Amino acid sequence: MTLFGDLSAADPPLNAARPAQERAALLAWVKDLFHEAYGARDLTPRRGAMHELISTILSQRTTHDDEEAAYQELRTLGDWDDIIAVPTETVAHAIRRSNYPESKAPRIQDTLRRIRDAPGGYDLDFLRELPVGEALKWLTDLPGVGVKTASLVLLFNYARPVFPVDTHVHRVSTRVGVIPRMGEQAAHRALLALLPPDPPYLYELHINFLAHGRKVCTWTRPKCGQCLLRERCDAYAQYGDRVPSFSEKPAKKESVGTHTDSD
Ligand code: SF4
Repeated sequence: MTLFGDLSAADPPLNAARPAQERAALLAWVKDLFHEAYGARDLTPRRGAMHELISTILSQRTTHDDEEAAYQELRTLGDWDDIIAVPTETVAHAIRRSNYPESKAPRIQDTLRRIRDAPGGYDLDFLRELPVGEALKWLTDLPGVGVKTASLVLLFNYARPVFPVDTHVHRVSTRVGVIPRMGEQAAHRALLALLPPDPPYLYELHINFLAHGRKVCTWTRPKCGQCLLRERCDAYAQYGDRVPSFSEKPAKKESVGTHTDSD
């Protein structure tokens, strides 16, 4: 039994079982097709770094509209110092459109306190110069900030060579077989290892993965009949037009051949 089901010995190996070099070439092919279908994307910050950071915390398990509504109401409480000073319940109420507001409110206040007390205060521009590994560590040491949020801030705001993996990037790249089945956190490292350290390239690919995940390779009932990746997609090779809903977590006994990332 493989990741996707039974395979005959005569079938060619799934992409996910191929060496890293071949999967890197597959990912470059995906990037080129996305470029043709969705176009180029300019790497210019869509919002300030603090806005990006707090909004991305709010976006966890939350739709874009609810994230935006929560952020806007949060900012009605005042500046960052004001948001630290109000009771945590007030912050939780303000961000109630975001899922898990009771968990996120204290984390946002703790994060703001840590940033306020850092040498640069609310100015995060020092992240532009810090070595990437140190910048990731600084951000992920903040309460409620994981590698996805940290990577978004570093790539979107400071054009650093990291690759944020959200639910769309994770789902599409896993179904195609660019990476073997693994959790979203681990996928950051696995995908980055297959990509050039080129921030505009990484940004365009990230944004186009989102577009494809939202429009075509959806969580349930992906529209494989309309998909430009179909001819080289592992999931399509296995299931045809009946690709099942995506499960984020790998099953305990799943394996994909004998491949490891060091291949
Ligand atoms: S062929 Fe289907 S499963 Fe594969 S990437 Fe396209 S929509 Fe997703």
